[in-house]
Amino acid sequence: MQTSVKDRVFNLIPPAMIAMVLAFWAFGPKALVGHPWALSVTSPLIVIVVLLLELVGERHAGWRMNKREFFTDLYYSVLSATIIFWLTEKLADDPLKAAKAALGIKTDWVLQMPWLMQVMLAIFLLEFGQYWMHRLMHNWTPFWLTHAPHHHITQLNAAKGAVGNPIELFLISLSVLAVFDFDPTALFAAFNTMGVISVFAHANVRSDPPIWYSFFFTTIRHHSLHHSIYYENTRCNYGNSLILLDRIFGTYKEGEGVLVGQDDRKRLSIREQTLFPFQPIIDKMKTRKMASRNGGELAANDQGEPAATA
Ligand SMILES: [Zn+2]
Ligand SMILES: [Zn+2]
Repeated sequence: MQTSVKDRVFNLIPPAMIAMVLAFWAFGPKALVGHPWALSVTSPLIVIVVLLLELVGERHAGWRMNKREFFTDLYYSVLSATIIFWLTEKLADDPLKAAKAALGIKTDWVLQMPWLMQVMLAIFLLEFGQYWMHRLMHNWTPFWLTHAPHHHITQLNAAKGAVGNPIELFLISLSVLAVFDFDPTALFAAFNTMGVISVFAHANVRSDPPIWYSFFFTTIRHHSLHHSIYYENTRCNYGNSLILLDRIFGTYKEGEGVLVGQDDRKRLSIREQTLFPFQPIIDKMKTRKMASRNGGELAANDQGEPAATA
């Protein structure tokens, strides 16, 4: 099959965007990269750019954005950037920093490293943790119940990475980064690089990056297979951005998913996604309530009706 010029250009957009992100944080004007709001602008900007690319280079018509999906995605994007971000800082990062100070741990060696090496180290640390957390979620029921809502999504787009149960969003954001002394711009470059990769890995964009990219980084082909309706295909490709980890740890699988979702592709509402991990307990309580009500009625009937035989 002949590749059109448009396809060839689209295939190069993910690596080109990574190069732009790295160039921005490495060489951008101090006033911009040093601004406290810089990361809060660049992160959503990446999602917006890729959402716009979906309009001009769609992968599957069945994944096309609509009003209902848009507002669900927006809700989770805001939730992640506010409450989840705050909780991660207060419950995980701040205690880690305090423990580091109390124990007198020094990690100045990180700051001595070349800038690009710092970016790579940050990506590796984040991805290593996320890979095992994601794999655990697929293998242990209490954690799976928090991750299942993300697998109930029935279509993919650039913003879908943010959609999931709030407990999952918190768990997946945990990392050991707070222990290390990074140049802040290297850390932000790492966040945005992973952002570009994982946004494209969920995006409805007809872009299949070059083989050297997909050897290291997760693409939509890898991740759509992970979202497949076929259970055995979901048990692979756990890497959020570094598919290399799946290759190393033996969970890599080649292929692509088009029909995504699970349990007869049942789409969950935000309320159902939020309550999902507690649903077994809620159901059990409901059954118990019904049983005791029925039992009460039976007891009332027993009392009201005369015994047939003595
Ligand atoms: Zn998963
Ligand atoms: Zn996903």
